Amino acid sequence: MKQQSQKNDNQQMLIITAPCWSCDKEMKIALVGNEQGKLEYGPETFSEPEKKLAETHGVFLKVVNSKTAEEIYLANTCKNCDQFVGKWFFFAHYFTPALYGHYKYIIIPIGK
Ligand SMILES: [Zn+2]
Repeated sequence: MKQQSQKNDNQQMLIITAPCWSCDKEMKIALVGNEQGKLEYGPETFSEPEKKLAETHGVFLKVVNSKTAEEIYLANTCKNCDQFVGKWFFFAHYFTPALYGHYKYIIIPIGK
């Protein structure tokens, strides 16, 4: 029997502290996923409580207008240079490196 390892009612928010890709100053990146490398979603689909939770932990979230994807969504943004981390960008540039120990992060349970 294959054991089920994922529980949807036991989700976690990860808040990664890493240098901004643009200006190199420290910024925070929030996402929902787990340490096994499963990324559920980023700020673009945060609920209102999730948004507040991230902001409580120092994450700067901003509604951005993506010229490449032609859509408007909430994104992790750098407080210093105002550049945002694109929807699909944070997975390879922040999430995976954080799990490999390159960046510090905290885990907050957000049981639904
Ligand atoms: Zn920056």
